Amino acid sequence: MLGAMRGRCPACGAPGAFAGPYRLRPRCERCGVVFERDGGTWLGASVLAYVLAMLAMAGFAWATVPGRGLYRGFEAGLIGVAVATVLLVYRPVKGWWLWATWAAGWVHRDGEDPEAGPGT
Ligand SMILES: [Zn+2]
Repeated sequence: MLGAMRGRCPACGAPGAFAGPYRLRPRCERCGVVFERDGGTWLGASVLAYVLAMLAMAGFAWATVPGRGLYRGFEAGLIGVAVATVLLVYRPVKGWWLWATWAAGWVHRDGEDPEAGPGT
């Protein structure tokens, strides 16, 4: 799982699952599992990244508002924290999500779909 968060293939552990900073290759170059089955695959990863951003914003508010009250630049700070969090966590979250979808059986080679019946 930690390997997947660093951009390794969850199935075989080959490095280089990511083609860019945030973009995954369509499939693993070593073992051939398909990382992106359909366009909605990464919705869960995006939701997770946003949830983490919300938590970071709450932590930022909790850390800076008490004792000072609302202050100039608070909203800008919140936005900065949210953007920085998404940028920081999206890749490991996406790697983790890839691992989670693989663990759930959604990442596999073509023709190995465990849900596909015989003859399909
Ligand atoms: Zn692989």
